[in-house]
Amino acid sequence: MIVVMKQGAPRAAVDEVVSRLKELGFDTQAIVGAERSVVAVIGQVYPELQDELEVLPAVHHVLRVSSPYKLTSREVKPEDTVIDVRGVRIGGDEVVVMAGPCTVESEDQLMTTAREVKAAGANVLRGGAFKPRTSPHSFQGLGAAGLELLSMASSETGLPIVTEVLDPRDVELVARHADILQIGTRNAQNFPLLREVGRCDKPVLLKRGLSSLIEEWLLSAEYIITQGNRRVMLCERGIRTFETGTRNTLDLSAVALARELSHLPVISDPSHATGKASLVRPMAMASIAAGANGLIVDVHPSPDHALIDGPQSLDFADFERMMAEVATVADAVGRPLQRMTAVPA
Ligand code: PEP
Ligand code: MN
Repeated sequence: MIVVMKQGAPRAAVDEVVSRLKELGFDTQAIVGAERSVVAVIGQVYPELQDELEVLPAVHHVLRVSSPYKLTSREVKPEDTVIDVRGVRIGGDEVVVMAGPCTVESEDQLMTTAREVKAAGANVLRGGAFKPRTSPHSFQGLGAAGLELLSMASSETGLPIVTEVLDPRDVELVARHADILQIGTRNAQNFPLLREVGRCDKPVLLKRGLSSLIEEWLLSAEYIITQGNRRVMLCERGIRTFETGTRNTLDLSAVALARELSHLPVISDPSHATGKASLVRPMAMASIAAGANGLIVDVHPSPDHALIDGPQSLDFADFERMMAEVATVADAVGRPLQRMTAVPA
């Protein structure tokens, strides 16, 4: 249930609604806007509550929300959420690009990639230090040493870092190095992990579970936001279907629908979605046309030698080409590529 306050209702009136709801045993999340504030009621509400709240003088009206997610929904917050990551604005009217290796392998590999993707116009550097591998015998990432290299690359280039956190016990450590915490597809419904990043002050890139319904994906975002962290981005990275020609199936309708249902920024990952470098450029362009606020793309100095995900990684020349093509589409749809230089940490 959502309590919409009257236009210009003061903070004290919002607090009064919050404390009334607290007396009644409900948790709340208040969003105080410049013109209008709303209070989301969390928990199982009863129908009479609507009347009980509507009599309060500063309350404009009370909405029963039909979707099971509330704080994630546009019904609660019609305007887009824009997340500022050290000067990079994600979710506004410009497209952002996150790029880098699937996994951090060495200082040389990461630094070379960081410099090249920056020169080609990327806004954020990606790179996994903790890797979620299907087999326990596969390379698991450099761990803490990988995080140190990411920090070094960020200091030199000024690019903010997005990197995955796999374990609730590592959230604090990863958050010391990352500007954006990535929740991978395999952890999209790891509820303790979602709660933990929800208590953290770093933005979160939430990948869609490989078999998640759009509703389940948005409910995962809701887990994070109910803990207080509203800086969540949704990431479509392909889902499992009967198709075997591509690694996953990039669900572009989910990109468009998530933009419709939610105020959160939506990022598309054409690399993990297709598993094929040749499909990354076309799907990157299609993602922007479908409404994605940004892209996250695997780039490697020598994809043939990559420890993980070489077949889907772009080399530097292909990444540059992708940026040029994406820029054309982004201009055509009126949401140009963001050309802003990030603020050093
Ligand atoms: C990644 O981005 O490196 C990754 C492991 O992605 P996903 O969780 O989407 O498979
Ligand atoms: Mn990968």
